[in-house]
Amino acid sequence: MKNITINSPFDMHLHLRDNEMLDLVAPLSSKTFAGAIIMPNLVPPVDSKQSVIKYKQRITNAIPAQDNFNLFMTLFFKPYTKEFLKDVKDEISAIKLYPAGITTNSEGGVESIDTVTLAPTFNAMAELNIPLCVHGETNGFVMDRESEFMSVYEELAIAFPKLKIIMEHITTKAATELLEKYDNLYATITLHHLLLTLDDVIGGMLKPHLFCKPIVKTYKDREALQKLALDANPKVMFGSDSAPHPQEAKENGNCAAGIFSAPIALQSLAQLFDENNKLENLQAFVSDNACKIYNMKASSKTITLEKNDFTIPEFYTDGSIKVVPMYASEKIAWDIKC
Ligand SMILES: [Zn+2]
Repeated sequence: MKNITINSPFDMHLHLRDNEMLDLVAPLSSKTFAGAIIMPNLVPPVDSKQSVIKYKQRITNAIPAQDNFNLFMTLFFKPYTKEFLKDVKDEISAIKLYPAGITTNSEGGVESIDTVTLAPTFNAMAELNIPLCVHGETNGFVMDRESEFMSVYEELAIAFPKLKIIMEHITTKAATELLEKYDNLYATITLHHLLLTLDDVIGGMLKPHLFCKPIVKTYKDREALQKLALDANPKVMFGSDSAPHPQEAKENGNCAAGIFSAPIALQSLAQLFDENNKLENLQAFVSDNACKIYNMKASSKTITLEKNDFTIPEFYTDGSIKVVPMYASEKIAWDIKC
């Protein structure tokens, strides 16, 4: 049977939430990944050393110890002083910037990304080697929000050439092009933006479990993203942006944005890379590139995937909450080898 072993697969953009949801979903990532960048958009946001340490402890408690899962914590971006950043530096791997109100629990985000007012924080981050992760969308028309944000990325890249800027979950051809223009720009790409277009979400019956922000885009955009990922371009890495919501928050008149993809991510990526005869590049996309970009060490954990049908569960539950994964009840061609 065809198989591939991946050393130290990392998910460089993951939402684990908190409380019962954390307890339910964290083991589904720790089982197949060697570690993840953990996003800080809780209520209240993770914005102090104490809250990082406490959140990390809650995640650790939710994960089976034998899973050997590395937690790379992030802080919610605010104007921070250099003293504060020096003190918190060893606890975090990055700082995540959200424009205010742009996605789940981002109300406390930045009202305007002003490179003058925010310069002291960005300069201190550059000096201390703390990458800046950005949710890059404006408040414009939903399909244009990311491309309209390109000028902000450009301004940041030019004003702070020593600051590592990660364009999170890029979705457009415009973003793939900008990435190549500046040495200090990098990007994460999700599974769903590699696989879906807007047709999959609203082209037929409305699919709430495929609704996310940034919204999936056009065929041309998807093609540009696939090219970067399948070629394992060294400036991109895998970040699932797996963002679980309870079933009733998705199957609702006001459907929450977010796709729960963590439990199927590696299997689906193996299928995509295999179908495109690029399996040999999967290792770089899901681990090696991230290690280089973030200056991280790979862990000793390995995961073997095999070409073998995997039927995705209809839902995951702990008895009290239910979460529906991407492609629930469907079959994919690759599975984790136990
Ligand atoms: Zn996210």
